[in-house]
Amino acid sequence: MSSISSLCVFCGSSMGVRDAYAEAAKSLGGVLAQRGIHMVYGGSNAGLMGCTARGALEHQGKVTGVITRELYERTDVLKVSKLVIVDSMHERKASMYGLSDAFIALPGGIGTLEELLESLTWNQLGIHTKPVGLLNTLGFFDPLLTMLDHLTSQGFLRQVHRNQLVSSDDPSSLLDLLSGHTPSSMAKWQ
Ligand code: AMP
Repeated sequence: MSSISSLCVFCGSSMGVRDAYAEAAKSLGGVLAQRGIHMVYGGSNAGLMGCTARGALEHQGKVTGVITRELYERTDVLKVSKLVIVDSMHERKASMYGLSDAFIALPGGIGTLEELLESLTWNQLGIHTKPVGLLNTLGFFDPLLTMLDHLTSQGFLRQVHRNQLVSSDDPSSLLDLLSGHTPSSMAKWQ
């Protein structure tokens, strides 16, 4: 059983086409705050990033944004509990991963997918061993889950690593799944 006191959220800088995405993002932010879980994210007020963070802040949650100086100067940044400004996207991700006990991806675009897959890769390599989950609103991630199962059936992703990614369409259930999920023996060569 892992104890999660801080959690990194990856999600779209766009809103998506269905209201349910924003509603789920806001709801997740609220649930994180109610559980006293410190939210870490990319610092922006845009899209689902802003929705999730505002959901947490409206419930007096603690939110840390990690953003590059370049994005800070040219985008709408939310007033969060703490803003960390870094020099590069690589530094930003390393900082977000270091600050967090677990990760959740919400619907998003290639930025979200990249962050999600990198956090899974780091688990696979044993760089960290932190639970990763999908908030699978309206089955948004079903095609990705199918692709991951394909990687496994074709011998490119071990089942033990595929099983590390948990998924639910309900924020509370997802957090329960992540809390009960301790990635172990994660390294690719174990
Ligand atoms: P995407 O899923 O392609 O919308 O990208 C979302 C991810 O890309 C976020 O988690 C951020 O890391 C980054 N990102 C994209 N746009 C912004 C923005 N305006 N401000 C901060 N981060 C952003």
